[in-house]
Amino acid sequence: MRKPTDECLLCKVNAANKTNSHILPRFISTGFLGAKGAPRKGFLLNGINELTAKPKTVQDSPKEDYILCEECEAYFSLVETASAPAVKFWQTKAAEGELKIVPIHPHLKLVQLNSPEPVVMRLLVYSMFWRADISDLGTFKNYKLDSDLAESLRCSLLEFKALANGALQANLKTKEITLHPYATMTAGAFKDETANVLAAINPGNPASLHVDKFGFYIFKAEKDIAGNFMADFSNIKISDNQIMVVSEQLWYDVMVKRPLEMAVEQAKKNLLDSK
Ligand SMILES: [Zn+2]
Repeated sequence: MRKPTDECLLCKVNAANKTNSHILPRFISTGFLGAKGAPRKGFLLNGINELTAKPKTVQDSPKEDYILCEECEAYFSLVETASAPAVKFWQTKAAEGELKIVPIHPHLKLVQLNSPEPVVMRLLVYSMFWRADISDLGTFKNYKLDSDLAESLRCSLLEFKALANGALQANLKTKEITLHPYATMTAGAFKDETANVLAAINPGNPASLHVDKFGFYIFKAEKDIAGNFMADFSNIKISDNQIMVVSEQLWYDVMVKRPLEMAVEQAKKNLLDSK
């Protein structure tokens, strides 16, 4: 168990005295729990719980004590506040003609975001993968990224650390981020808004995270994405800020059904390994 006197895992300077740090930003990770006011219940998948008679249910997105200092937590909040509107309201903006939409085929279109700054969105995505990597919570315990990638994400995050928006904006002008290609996937509509999942099952290359209505993929290097079907739809260059929007059916098959199957496969493997 970590203690409040342990060092912050991001800055490695201050004491990690912050409690209740969300591993995945709250604004993006709690829609699947259902409407506020209604009984909130969601499912966490981690390749361990899936074979037990009772799947693990949760009332909030996972949070952990003593991983971050107050400053680093405030910095992540700043990045989340800057990127939340783009994530939450892209459909409204698209409907109002504010965003460029590129149709690829009947089940896939690309939506090019016009905010936040592409680097801010990249920091948000890096922070989710990094937090999932360092977390000791059950959902993330077996999720370990390639150690060089994890350290690169930490260094990039720390490089841009700021405690106020003005300072963050200044950092965007002067600092450089290490580029790891990433892709974001969502759907235009969902069969059941409360049937999505939070899952950290595959820490490979690409590593993936299932975060309610969004799926994120990160590749270690540009050469690793060459030949992948996501290559043309990802965020490779520093100015890229686009999301893949798939059909309701494709989302269900890839992002709901498939993670459930993978989690069950992983749970079976864990069970065999433990024998
Ligand atoms: Zn810190």
